[in-house]
Amino acid sequence: MWVKGNLHTHSTNSDGRLTAEQLVEFYYANGYGLLSITDHEKLTKVSTDKLITIPGFETSVKGTRLNYDYHLVLLNVEDVESVQRLRSSIGELLDFTSECGGLAFIAHPYWSSLTVEDLMPLKSYLGVEVYNTGCDVECAKGFSMVHWDGVLAAGKLIYGFAVDDAHRYLIPPIDALGGWIWVNVEAFSTESLLHSLERGLFYSSMGPAVEEFSYKPDVIEARFTPVSRIDVVSDDGVGLSISLDTYEHFKRLLSTGEGRRLMGGFEAEFNIENGVEKAYLNAGGFKLTLEKTVDGLTALKLEKYGFKKYFRLELTDSKGRKAWLNPIMV
Ligand SMILES: [Zn+2]
Ligand SMILES: [Zn+2]
Repeated sequence: MWVKGNLHTHSTNSDGRLTAEQLVEFYYANGYGLLSITDHEKLTKVSTDKLITIPGFETSVKGTRLNYDYHLVLLNVEDVESVQRLRSSIGELLDFTSECGGLAFIAHPYWSSLTVEDLMPLKSYLGVEVYNTGCDVECAKGFSMVHWDGVLAAGKLIYGFAVDDAHRYLIPPIDALGGWIWVNVEAFSTESLLHSLERGLFYSSMGPAVEEFSYKPDVIEARFTPVSRIDVVSDDGVGLSISLDTYEHFKRLLSTGEGRRLMGGFEAEFNIENGVEKAYLNAGGFKLTLEKTVDGLTALKLEKYGFKKYFRLELTDSKGRKAWLNPIMV
């Protein structure tokens, strides 16, 4: 089963505007099944059977290359005091978190002015916030794909988390319900959720939903709600981006003899079945199959594409809202 969750948010116990109890009601009413209230250097516990809560908090550590602080979200860690003692060493803090059964990820790398070099020496953390709603709506620094891909290009698997990091909730600019994760769990329990997070069995989204995804060496298949752009992101000049504009351009060009001559060596076929247009593109080296409805692109099959270290799938809908699947190291 799939559970929708927000792993980073603030209550009145630190600088948020809603109480822990109001937060539970707010996220539950909006279809969430998982919530972690992560106040600054403080544990905020709340008891509810409406959704699963993972205890945790946000901590900061000095010492980045540009003299800013790392912010970290620690989940399933309750020993705030020990963490305070370790705040001078991010390595020791991450080791401690992992030794006591906790999980850590790096909050808002772009907002924190982190460089990829700040992330490279770190061990024992799950990933980075690829999207942080608060940082986006307040100062346009919500997206951290470059940090994520920098670490992945070094061959190290880390996951991407979309979170709210909400403080304001209902007061504009609204920093709630903007980014979340969908976690695939065996049971509706804290243990099962932690197990799935640790294994990367989740994807992040601001809107688009992924209905199917499979990967076998040389074949990626995915089905999703309508999007305007599909990106297959990788390293070393490898990767693929298909927007609706590019799709329509190919289609127009390949409908004429002159266009086909221009696109020499590129084979394509477009068929409509039950209102769904299917495009088969054979670019010599690889094969691409796309499905499109009146609302946008809805499926992708990519065969025989030569990835080097990793790839990840990123979707963007007509409102610019993204979804990020976790990477696969090949
Ligand atoms: Zn922060
Ligand atoms: Zn925060």
